[in-house]
Amino acid sequence: MLAPPTALSREQARQSLRLRRYLMGAGTSLLVAASLFIWHWLDLLPLKIAIGGAALIGFFIVLFYGLFRSGLNLRFRDPSLTGEMIVAAVLTLAYVMYHAAAARDALSLFYPVALLFGVLRLGTARLFALALIALGAHAAVLASSGSLQGPDARDSWLQLAALAFVLPWFAAMGGYVNGLRHQLSDSNRRLKEAADRAEENSIRDVLTGIYNRRHLVDMLQREIARATRLGTPLSVCMIDMDHFKSINDTLGHAAGDAVLRHFSVIAGTGLRAVDVFGRFGGEEFMLILPGTEASGAAAVAERLRVSIEQCSFPGLPAKRRVTVTIGVAAYAKGESGDALTARADGALYRGKHAGRNQVVVLG
Ligand code: GH3
Ligand code: MG
Ligand code: MG
Repeated sequence: MLAPPTALSREQARQSLRLRRYLMGAGTSLLVAASLFIWHWLDLLPLKIAIGGAALIGFFIVLFYGLFRSGLNLRFRDPSLTGEMIVAAVLTLAYVMYHAAAARDALSLFYPVALLFGVLRLGTARLFALALIALGAHAAVLASSGSLQGPDARDSWLQLAALAFVLPWFAAMGGYVNGLRHQLSDSNRRLKEAADRAEENSIRDVLTGIYNRRHLVDMLQREIARATRLGTPLSVCMIDMDHFKSINDTLGHAAGDAVLRHFSVIAGTGLRAVDVFGRFGGEEFMLILPGTEASGAAAVAERLRVSIEQCSFPGLPAKRRVTVTIGVAAYAKGESGDALTARADGALYRGKHAGRNQVVVLG
């Protein structure tokens, strides 16, 4: 099973996602910088302004790169700096457009492009705020360059009116898409949690919460493969409660259930991380001991037998003892899981016939 991601590795993953998004924005900005020179070449933009605009873009690319690499971005309310980067893009566009009336139609197309980056990250309210900032910046450019009066006033008003429609529309649609994205990632998370729970449930016994027979069989298979590969020992203990039926008969089924649950807790404590303990069925349990010879397994089984014998079980009369008989078998090379289990079972039944409350070992 994979270890759950630590808080640190999750933060690293988030930071690298932020950096990837920054790179997308930086790449787009470089294309805009290149296009400034094309507009200059087409005589729509003075060279000085193309260079100034490109320098501004370069400045912001370096500034944000520094913020991400140094981790300073983590001090911001939104460490992705999406809003800040969009404002930087809007200001750069406004600077260029202030100086280049002829390029305004074409360049104003980049406002929605800048907003589009916000859709990956921001909700409707913040997208609207950015749309208003872009609109305000453009209105300021048009007003301060005198374009809202004079012979070209009609074109400028038209441009402003178009942006006044398009940018809020982008913010509304973007917010909607962002909402869908959140819903999708929420339902993905819930789906994954449900799948994890279902997977966990499928290997657990309902009554005791310990591993069930299916998982024990799988684990035994896996441990046999490992023991064969590495040439290490492996032992199996089959544990059966003695005269369990009489607990049910005298104290009721619920008391029997409580004994099974308590037994599971006691028998499961003190095992090594590699040991696998589970309920094989009814009042029968299995303990898989990787890397353990028959003698070591016998010692573990005997310790368990004694601790059960000495334990007072909740729900049972104080004097009522619970005992177990345990059959131990060590893995013989080439043997199947079923054969090994059957041999441990054989040892267990020898113990039953010999008087119960004992450990019987097959080498
Ligand atoms: P032995 O010493 O020979 O093992 O005797 P036993 O009474 O333990 O064995 P037997 O196989 O005759 O009976 C097992 C009993 O375990 C019968 C069954 O009702 C009971 N049992 C099996 N599963 C559960 C369970 O989930 N809850 C309860 N309360 N009893 C169970
Ligand atoms: Mg029994
Ligand atoms: Mg039994």
